[in-house]
Amino acid sequence: MSRLIKLAAAVSVITLAHTAMASAENLKVVASFSIIADFAKNVGGDRVDITTLVGPNGDAHVYEPKPADAAAVAAADVVLVNGLQFEGFLQRLVEASGTKAPVVELTKGGEVLKNAEEEHHHDEASEGEQKHEHEAAEAGHDQHAEEGQEHANEEAHHDHGEFDPHAWQSAHNAEIYVKNIADAFCAADAAGCDTYRANAEAYGQKLEALEAEIKAAVAEIPEDKRVIITSHDAFKYFEHEYGLKFLAPEGVSTESEASAADVAALIKQVKEDRAAAIFVENITNQRLIEQIASETGIKVGGTLYSDALSDEGGQAATYIDMMEHNANTIKGAILGS
Ligand code: ZN
Repeated sequence: MSRLIKLAAAVSVITLAHTAMASAENLKVVASFSIIADFAKNVGGDRVDITTLVGPNGDAHVYEPKPADAAAVAAADVVLVNGLQFEGFLQRLVEASGTKAPVVELTKGGEVLKNAEEEHHHDEASEGEQKHEHEAAEAGHDQHAEEGQEHANEEAHHDHGEFDPHAWQSAHNAEIYVKNIADAFCAADAAGCDTYRANAEAYGQKLEALEAEIKAAVAEIPEDKRVIITSHDAFKYFEHEYGLKFLAPEGVSTESEASAADVAALIKQVKEDRAAAIFVENITNQRLIEQIASETGIKVGGTLYSDALSDEGGQAATYIDMMEHNANTIKGAILGS
């Protein structure tokens, strides 16, 4: 009995100390992966402490959380995630952590694309329209009974979602992520709100300059050389926004490996579409791309950063560096050949 009381007293002291420290300290932010962490750093500046779950060159599709991740989520004031089922590990981690922090999906309000694979499997249900406002699409799900049923069918034979989660591959969408981060920080720390808004505004201008830079780089590539190959379907937003065509043996998730039939179909398509370049990705195994390169005779044009930044000394240590690197690497490989 007395041991129990002592234990309870010890716990309450720890809790008090923790609360007192937290109020004097920075906002504790957990970012699900490296790209979101970079956005959060730009918006939060020195008012926030950021813990990143899936770090540089990491693959969030197949990430296995560590005990330290649950502790970080439990202690967080705000948890920032991509949503659209990008982070397959997330729901269990949040539940296990018991966190009270808001879990903010940064793709909310952005222009989201349908998962092309899903569309292929559900032709009759998807009726053409490719673009969706994230919120509008979700509201639609709540309203229409038959869509709910379609969703249930989907879940029976697919692990990943109806939408393509890689929305950050459009700099235009990155502005939505940044606005959502500023909103989340303002809600959690009203005293810092003016700072967050000013930071978001300044960074938003850099994103607009980036967007113009990418468009200019793509404009230099002749129209008949705009087909390229990567290992998984991470670049459909880049394709949609900037006008290149990306082919990949793997779908929107790296969870299931490409089958021999997928690879054979891709090689056939590469020959028909006359792909101009092929790239490895920083998050995935290079072997498959090297195999396709050797079978098609297309030289590997370098590394594209798809779902994660590089580490600090690397070519893509920030989101802006990553997007510039990708655009310039694509342009260089195609024009140089
Ligand atoms: Zn991906």
